[in-house]
Amino acid sequence: MGAPDGVKQNPKMAGSNLIDCVPQSGMCPVACRDCFYNRPGWYAGEEREPVVPNAREAEAKIVRINSGHDSNIEKMHVLEVAARYPHHFYNTSIPDVRFFDAPVVVTINRDEETDPCLPEQVRGELARIMYVRFRLSPSNLGRAADAVRAWAGQHSIPVVLTYMAYYTHEPPILTEGERFGLEHDGLSGDPYIWKVRTANEYWCASSSFIASTHRLLERGAPGLVLTCGTSTSSLCRDCGNCELLYYRTVLQIGERYRRPPSTSARGDG
Ligand code: SF4
Repeated sequence: MGAPDGVKQNPKMAGSNLIDCVPQSGMCPVACRDCFYNRPGWYAGEEREPVVPNAREAEAKIVRINSGHDSNIEKMHVLEVAARYPHHFYNTSIPDVRFFDAPVVVTINRDEETDPCLPEQVRGELARIMYVRFRLSPSNLGRAADAVRAWAGQHSIPVVLTYMAYYTHEPPILTEGERFGLEHDGLSGDPYIWKVRTANEYWCASSSFIASTHRLLERGAPGLVLTCGTSTSSLCRDCGNCELLYYRTVLQIGERYRRPPSTSARGDG
């Protein structure tokens, strides 16, 4: 999908107030497990060239810096590109928010089968974190509950559940006990179904799996557990969480927003 002048845009964000920017080229070396941006069919093309919207395309938009890469990689370059946009936020799965001049989204579990990163493991100011992203699957509900307690419960940092979509293997299955518990929260049918999500086919979480797990996990921190997309749509225009949480964080960090990055900023890779 392209704008009239050919700049590639993420179809997930069509019709929303967000636009993607990926300053780096090449595959993201962090390689989160089953990252859908690393699979063939990525919207910006297999050449993996940078995606940098011009001023007209980004006008009145919030620019999401890095969906298909990590903002802690080639960090000085990322900061320089981001500085041209009045409103932007960063994505990273490396728990280091130092030197970022705007809100940051931290993915706290690159691999959903390992323990998530905890607030005390983050380098830098927690107030700069717009939300943490937890990659949820049928096999890590317990870890998700721990993450909600640690981030939302203890630090009031929202947790956004991103439901794993699988294309390299079939999804994990729920234990009998978890299935029983989720049925009380509305789960019916298979938790995962094979379908097109945004642009490609995957094993995707069913609407009732999304709604029931959200209901379950939200009890740990009411109002601070959200889902990426809704139970029936993965599109940003139907969700609005990033926009809402971006402005919430800008208000929270106040005059420290846009503090120029230190020249000693260095990437981790
Ligand atoms: S949380 Fe919502 S607005 Fe943000 S990327 Fe996911 S779908 Fe889009």
